[in-house]
Amino acid sequence: MHFIAGNWKMNLDRKSALALAAALRERVGQRQDIEIAVFPPFVYIDEIARSLAGSRIMVGGQNCCDEERGAFTGEVSAAMLRDVGAGWVLLGHSERRHLYGESDALIQAKVQRALGTGLRVMLCVGETLAEREARRTEAVIGSQLQAGLRGVAAADMERIALAYEPVWAIGTGVNATTAQASQAHAYLRGVLVGMYPGAVAGRSRILYGGSVKASNAGELLRAGDVNGCLVGGASLEASSFLGIIDGAPRL
Ligand code: PEP
Repeated sequence: MHFIAGNWKMNLDRKSALALAAALRERVGQRQDIEIAVFPPFVYIDEIARSLAGSRIMVGGQNCCDEERGAFTGEVSAAMLRDVGAGWVLLGHSERRHLYGESDALIQAKVQRALGTGLRVMLCVGETLAEREARRTEAVIGSQLQAGLRGVAAADMERIALAYEPVWAIGTGVNATTAQASQAHAYLRGVLVGMYPGAVAGRSRILYGGSVKASNAGELLRAGDVNGCLVGGASLEASSFLGIIDGAPRL
């Protein structure tokens, strides 16, 4: 089953976020073969989760704190996300890694906290353009993956989805080619095979993210080992996000 997720980042306001959720709910259609999630800004999660309750669209937070509770001004805990209706959390997004300096160790601690709190985790990995040009793509995404999953038991892999998001493709309008995406996904699959029993590694979903839109999603979703997509800009309007969902190949 493909998994199509929308990362709203720090966009929209209360009114437009609720309108987007309502439009998705109303027009999501009959594609029971696709899992769908949206990741609104923290402050709107409560209302968005209520407005999507009973629909097939899941809701997640874009980040969470590695600590359980306490004197961590400005942070939001995994338990708080659950409390307001989030089932998922996005961790290791390149904007967190590169704009806010999140290390592999911090991301790993967040993964542990989120899983321990009962959330499902979408763990993002991806190389910068300089790393790709230095032919370090596999080394970078392999070590991000291994670090993020350190301590995650095979039984918990059901609650993890992975997103390969090359940094140079995020928000740039330049998506990876299907060959680049499937090569990276196959490599990540191989890393999983080295870490988990074959059936667990084979079942794990690896989404592609980076300038996905309705016009390129179908092709990317047909690429080998691409099990869905994580969408930024094109998830901010119902018609473009639904276009990606409606155009997804049937498996
Ligand atoms: C993202 O931020 O996860 C993303 C993939 O963004 P965009 O689709 O805008 O490139």
